[in-house]
Formats: sequence, C-alpha cells, structure tokens
Amino acid sequence: MGLLRTAFGLALLMIVGTILTGCGHSGPPAPKMNWVEAGSYRKDNRKRGDIVAIVIHTTEGNYKDDLSFVDNHNRTFAGNVKYFVSNDRSVSAHYVMGPNGEITNMVKVRDVAHTQTYYNGRAIGIECAGWGRFPEMWTPQMMDSLVNLCAYLCAKYDIPPYQPEGTAYEGPYAIVIGDPAISEDGKAKRGPNTDRYSAHGLVGHYQVQPWNKSDPGPHFPWAVFTARVRQRMTDYGAKLAPLPGPEDTAKEVYATATIKEDAATAGKPFTYQRSIVGKGAGAINASDITFPNFAKVKDLVAGEPTKTGDASENRATFEVPLTMPKVASFALTASRINFNGTWTDSPTLDVKVEQPIP
Ligand SMILES: [Zn+2]
Repeated sequence: MGLLRTAFGLALLMIVGTILTGCGHSGPPAPKMNWVEAGSYRKDNRKRGDIVAIVIHTTEGNYKDDLSFVDNHNRTFAGNVKYFVSNDRSVSAHYVMGPNGEITNMVKVRDVAHTQTYYNGRAIGIECAGWGRFPEMWTPQMMDSLVNLCAYLCAKYDIPPYQPEGTAYEGPYAIVIGDPAISEDGKAKRGPNTDRYSAHGLVGHYQVQPWNKSDPGPHFPWAVFTARVRQRMTDYGAKLAPLPGPEDTAKEVYATATIKEDAATAGKPFTYQRSIVGKGAGAINASDITFPNFAKVKDLVAGEPTKTGDASENRATFEVPLTMPKVASFALTASRINFNGTWTDSPTLDVKVEQPIP
C-alpha cells in the first residue's frame, strides 16, 4: 500500500513537473522588475519567433531613485522612466535598467517599443541609465540585472545569445535596400533610407543606426556580457539558439518594401525594381525574394521577380512586373519604378502613378 502510494505520488510529481516546464522551454526565471507603462508604443501580438534581437542602449542620462532624469547639461527632466511615460515624446523602451540593478518594464514584449527606428518590430529595446563614455556606468549590479534579464528573454523568445558582427554600414549583415542618393560631392549618401542591419542576436544601437548612434559606447563589456548570458542560460538548461547566417536574415530585410496608399490605375503593366547591395547579394536568387506588401494593394498583380543588370558579389538587381486593372496612385519606399519606359529613382521614393481611366 505504502509502496503503491509512493509510486502514485511519484507519477503525480512527474505530471506536475511536465506541466510546470510547459512545452519544453526551460530557462532562467524572470528577474524581479516593476511595471510602469510607457506613453508611446505600438500594440502588437509578437510571439516567440517574431522577436529575433535585443538592442542594448544607454540613456545618456541619470537614473535616480525618484526616477528623475538629469542629462549631461545637468537639466532635470521628468524622465528616464518618466521620460518614457510622457506622451509627448514618441520614444520608449521595453526595459530601463538602473545602476543599482533596478529593472523597470515599460512596454510588454508582445508590443513594439519606439527605441531604434526600422529595427523596432523585430527587437526588444533595453535602455541602461547612464553615459556610455564613462566606464563606471557599468556597475556590477546593473550588469548582473542585464545578464539575468537577457538570459531570461533569450531563452523565452529563442534569441541567439551572441553579438553578431558588423553594422548597417559594414560586415556580412549590412544591407543596402535602395540605391543611395548621390550628394553634390559625388559621394553616395547613406543612412536611414538606404541602410539596414539584418542580424539577429544581442546587438548595440550603434550596429543598427551607425549614422547617428554610438551607444552603448566603448566601455560596454560585450564579450564578458554575452558569455555570462550563455552561461546563465545553460545553467538553467536552456538551449542556445545559433546565429543565423547573413543570407537568411537578409531575406527579411529584402521584403520590407512598403506601399503606403491603396490605389487604382489604368491597366498598363509597369515594373518595380530593387537593387540589393551587400556582401554576397549577387548570390541571392530571384525566387528568394518576396514582396508581401504588394498583396496589400488592392488589385495590384505582381509577377515573378527576375534578376537583371549587375549581379556582382556586391549588388543584385531584381525586377518585378506589376499590373493594375484600374487607376493607380500609390507610394513605394526605397525602390525604383519604371512606368511607360521611364525609371523614377529615389532612396525614399513616393511614386505617384496616376493614369486616366481609358
Ligand atoms: Zn540608443
């Protein structure tokens, strides 16, 4: 009887254990944090698989016990945390870290915070309070909390716990999504309209926006930090997602053409062209390129993309034949379009194709 009861108890424990560990996602527990809702973010329903990166920032300000914020000119803001609560500022982060290891969660991970422009939809943004130019901002308490938080998030969302190389300007994950504008001195103008960083993993804001950001700065201990995140994950039995290669992550970036307006046009076919510049871009096949946003334009029919023109190691150009049965007035960003034999070209192109109804 006693033996039977023990066996029954053991079986019950195993069942409970299975329920508790869920569908096989083990990993470190969520660290202690408080919740203060940010004023500006986008409601979404992101899940494991949608989120591929954590972006580390510095606020370039002070996180004080009363959550007030002092910038480097010693002006006091209602801020850092309060700064992100304020509705009149269109910036936010998922988490804000304090020097004593405080963690304030301000945007639910399923929602999109306004932290790093084009990269927001795929990322979790973490702001560390302090100034990146001071090595002492990386207090042991803040680093412990950051490691615990990132290890928890990497395990929960299957984010690779590694720092990928390069930036949106250079390295294997740098993608040029449109032809850069040529400035008067003959140099290509690069920046937010043309350059994309496609990597997954634990990344710095400077990698995503090299044209205007340098955080978390020169003193952030990347190697030690990422090694500690991996160690904590394996200590809790979590699997370490590998860094995907540039070819895989580039596909997501190639598919970011956006069509801003719905429309209508007069039935003649026209061609959409996209040049992709970046290491190995020539190896990308037309069949790998998708333009999901085309489906959002009413009555627009997109044909198969074909590789045309220069397909060197650094550049591949694709053309997609498009047709619309009625009238068209719509905009494409970062693209090049041929209508009735004329190419229109701009890094942020607002093409308006207007045709009289025949
Ligand atoms: Zn930043």
